[in-house]
Amino acid sequence: MHCPFCRHPDSRVVDSRTSEDGSAIRRRRQCPKCMKRFTTIETASLSVVKRSGVTEPFSREKVINGVRKACQGRPVSDDDLAVLAQKVEESIRSMGLAELDAYEVGLTILGPLRELDEVAYLRFASVYQAFESLEDFEAAIELLRKEREEQAEGEAAEAGSAEQ
Ligand SMILES: [Zn+2]
Repeated sequence: MHCPFCRHPDSRVVDSRTSEDGSAIRRRRQCPKCMKRFTTIETASLSVVKRSGVTEPFSREKVINGVRKACQGRPVSDDDLAVLAQKVEESIRSMGLAELDAYEVGLTILGPLRELDEVAYLRFASVYQAFESLEDFEAAIELLRKEREEQAEGEAAEAGSAEQ
């Protein structure tokens, strides 16, 4: 690792720390020449295998590009998309895999996208899970509705117990 200040080709590790979720190691390094300190972050490489069999490094940018179309015309900002991509990366890294299918990346996108915007979620899911008929849409919407009702009931029960 070259020193980013003086380009000296060597550095000394003065401190190593594993991130909370265990997916990265932060190292504090010191250059023996100019004595300046800098930090490096080490993460395991994560590859995505595309349907064509081609392997490419995981990228948040690709996740964002993948969902952007589904979010067209919806109240979803670039910041929202950045947060979504970060969530996707975190949940993929927590699986501890070195490699996974593009399909699995898509599955990981579904959860956080649904939290973000249900319409965008339905659009993405319809392409992703290859909805073939109106019934597929109805089933997905029915599921969303049911979960929303359950959530509302849970909240009502909570409010009820708080009153007692
Ligand atoms: Zn240096």
